[in-house]
Amino acid sequence: MTGIKHRLLVVDDEVEVCEIIREVGETAGYEVKTTTSGVEFCALYLNFNPTFILLDLNIPEFDGIELLRFLAQHNCTCPIVLESGQDEKVLAISSKLGEEMGLTMGPYFQKPVSVTKLMSALETNKEAPQDDSPDFLRHAIANKRIVLHYQPKVSFKTNQVVGIEALVRLEVQGKLIPPDSFIPLAEESNLIRSLSQLIVQIAFQEYKSIINTYPEISLSVNLSPKTLDDLLMPDEFTKMAQEHNIDTKNICLEITETAFSEHKLLIADVITRFRIKGFTISIDDFGTGYSSLAQLHNLPFNEIKIDKSFITHLGEDLEARKITQSVIDLGHSLGLTVTAEGIETKEVWDILASQGCDIAQGFYICHPLEFDKLTKWLALARDGVHTNHEHLSNV
Ligand code: C2E
Ligand code: MG
Ligand code: MG
Repeated sequence: MTGIKHRLLVVDDEVEVCEIIREVGETAGYEVKTTTSGVEFCALYLNFNPTFILLDLNIPEFDGIELLRFLAQHNCTCPIVLESGQDEKVLAISSKLGEEMGLTMGPYFQKPVSVTKLMSALETNKEAPQDDSPDFLRHAIANKRIVLHYQPKVSFKTNQVVGIEALVRLEVQGKLIPPDSFIPLAEESNLIRSLSQLIVQIAFQEYKSIINTYPEISLSVNLSPKTLDDLLMPDEFTKMAQEHNIDTKNICLEITETAFSEHKLLIADVITRFRIKGFTISIDDFGTGYSSLAQLHNLPFNEIKIDKSFITHLGEDLEARKITQSVIDLGHSLGLTVTAEGIETKEVWDILASQGCDIAQGFYICHPLEFDKLTKWLALARDGVHTNHEHLSNV
């Protein structure tokens, strides 16, 4: 894994100031890009992925507030330092406005900017917060320390890989933190939207690189319940798919069953619009939430994923077997695909195959793998090595 890259983006109408800041930034270990133009700043922001922004409030074409609005619209999570020749009150109010737009505002500086203060702000930004606070997560997102692992989905009938599911991890000091430890924090601190966008961006980028080789494989992405009341999401995801030349019908959105208890109408609106735009929708962890049957009736799902708590011990648990058989029959009678997750043994695979389950996922077939390993696994799997899953588990 490569170390964190620190990237400083500067917009200031004075070329000489840009050059001084460049020198300070490079001394502090940043890769630096500078511009005197607001238009160029917007283009650079989109391509350079800055981890720190220095923004002069008075620049040609746009004013600083318009640029802050642009950054907010693009879910910018990195800290922004304002500088200006204006009096301190204008700087303070602009910084407050930025905060209200949901941006992370750093200190602000009156011109001429003190090199010592600037250096100190740059150094502080490089130190990751050490606890499990929202700032810690914000920092991780801003620095793109999000890693996706992928777990294959295999057809019971054909033994072929039909899909991959993206599962997020956070990389902290060389260790990977599982999603259950930080998704709830992201949901509570309103970071889930920028996190979801980053996850989808990474997943689309990686998936795009294998579509031509494996056109039959779809991509599943987990969506947090908390993002389902966002009416803009279906359009945003569709646009991102188009930008990556991905057909939305190859993207499955997995939504946890417990998500549907609140904001029913809004959620039904968002899910239905995802369907209209071509995405397929899966009800994840089926059997663990509330009013499962009502949800199946009211929402346009394509897939049921039976929760692993029913699957893992199927071998010994006769009751669980009756439940899985009923869910498979129910799913089929509604015209849905039924997937079982958490298959850890051949015995459980065989039971579910005999019950007519459609798709299998679990450690028996393959653990979630980082993208490079996944591509190797897929190449082996394509040669039909699937019939003996254990050999593939630890590629
Ligand atoms: P999930 O979507 O139901 O994913 C299945 C979880 O079961 C994954 O845990 C996977 O690693 C694990 N698993 C797979 N096969 C087996 C097996 O055979 N046995 C057992 N015991 N476990 C198995 P993981 O990666 O820790 O993810 C946990 C949950 O976090 C996911 O459950 C999902 O709800 C959430 N999550 C993961 N990635 C994302 C994401 O990108 N966005 C959001 N919003 N949530 C995510
Ligand atoms: Mg899932
Ligand atoms: Mg699940």
